This record gives sequence, C-alpha cells and structure tokens, in this order.
Amino acid sequence: MWIDTHSHLYLEAFSSDIDAVIQRCLDNRVNHIFLPNIDNKSIAPMMALQEKNPQLFFPMMGLHPCDVNENFEQELMQMEVWMQSNTFFGIGETGLDLYWEKKHLDLQIQSLIRHIKWAKQFQKPLILHARESFPELLEVIESEMDETLFGIFHCFTGDNEIAERILDLNQFVFGIGGVISYPKSDLKKTLKIIPIEKIVLETDSPFLPPTPHRGKRNESAYIPIIAEHLVDVYQLPLQTIAEITSSTAKNIFKI
Ligand SMILES: [Zn+2]
Repeated sequence: MWIDTHSHLYLEAFSSDIDAVIQRCLDNRVNHIFLPNIDNKSIAPMMALQEKNPQLFFPMMGLHPCDVNENFEQELMQMEVWMQSNTFFGIGETGLDLYWEKKHLDLQIQSLIRHIKWAKQFQKPLILHARESFPELLEVIESEMDETLFGIFHCFTGDNEIAERILDLNQFVFGIGGVISYPKSDLKKTLKIIPIEKIVLETDSPFLPPTPHRGKRNESAYIPIIAEHLVDVYQLPLQTIAEITSSTAKNIFKI
C-alpha cells in the first residue's frame, strides 16, 4: 500500500469529480491520505471529506503560513475549539514562506511557535512548509527542539547542509513529492545523504504534479509515479520503497 502524507483533496479543484479522484487513489493502492489544513474556511470541506471516507482520509489542523495576517490569533483560537472535540492526526501545515510575504515574517514566526506548542501538547507530528525560508525556519525549530517534538519537513527542497541540519534533529523526516521528477531539481543529489527510512511520500495535490502531469492538476493517485524516482536513487524495488515509506508514515502519525 501507499500513503500520501500531504494532500489538499478537499479544495475546490476536486469538487466536481472527487468520487473519480478517490477511485483512482484506491485503484493505485494509495490507501491513506493525510489532509493538511490551510485556514478556517478549509476546515468544513476537509472534515466533510473525512466523513465521506474515514478509512482513507486523516485530517490535520493548522494555519498555512501564507494565510497568516494580523488576524492570525483569532484564527488559531477557532482552531483550538475544533481541536477540543475532534481528533487531528497532525499539526499543520505551518512553517515560514518568504516567497510572497516577507513583511509578515514576525507574525509567521509567532504562529509557528503556537503550532509547535500544540504539537508538543497533543503529541502529534508538526507539518512544516518552507519556501525560501529554510535557515529562518530551522533556527526556530532548533531553538524549540526537545524530545517531545517530531514531524515532517513537507515538500523538502533544501541542499545538503539543510538536509544535515534536519537529520541532526533526529525526530524529523523529509516529505518528498513531484519536485523529484523535475529535470532542473537537485533533490536526487541531496537524497544521497538521506537514508530511505527518513522519507515519506506526498503529492501536495492539487499543486506540484510530477512529470508527465506538469501544468495540470496533481492528485494523490500519482504517489507511485513519485516513488519510481526513488527506485533510481536508492536502487531498491518499488515494493520495498512502498513498505519502508508507509511504515515511516505510520510511525510518525501513530496509526
Ligand atoms: Zn500543502
């Protein structure tokens, strides 16, 4: 079986054909899909999708760094109410994104620190998003690190030095998605220093589709296409890649 550890299948992009999308996941043996939240508006559709198929979908709770603004405290308070009466399998996605909104860096850091507190309190994995922000993000994580904090650097695209700092944290793994299939990406080179046991697979649907689906909508059924690229890197059969990455994901999410 395969696990997609990061997929936004509850978004509008899938609303017209979600049943067919789900069927393609099952046809490709993608049997568990973890849903990172984005903001307060995405919670209801995310929970509705889980209700549709609770064996397949596992919701998580958090505020995406691109959606952190002056009102973030209020959004986080509403999320805390949801967490009192529902089970969420991870905290996120959170992190730092300096691609669009450099002016909100201080607010993004405050929001990230609140997510770290939740992750420690509920003993759930922290789901981290980083874009043009690995040094800033790692500085926060390293200073908050203790034996209770663990999680995933989702859509990992860092270089060897960043990879080594994440490996040194010991309790974080690398989310690998469609970027690995892009000819211009150096990710395959960086993976040479990352043990296969430290990797989980993800699509980040509907974003970042693997080749040959670039420019179109991504979906969770493409996980095996991403995994094919790990066959080259690790010289292991596809079946072994499935077993190891699924076992790592199950350990992290405690399912
Ligand atoms: Zn995402």
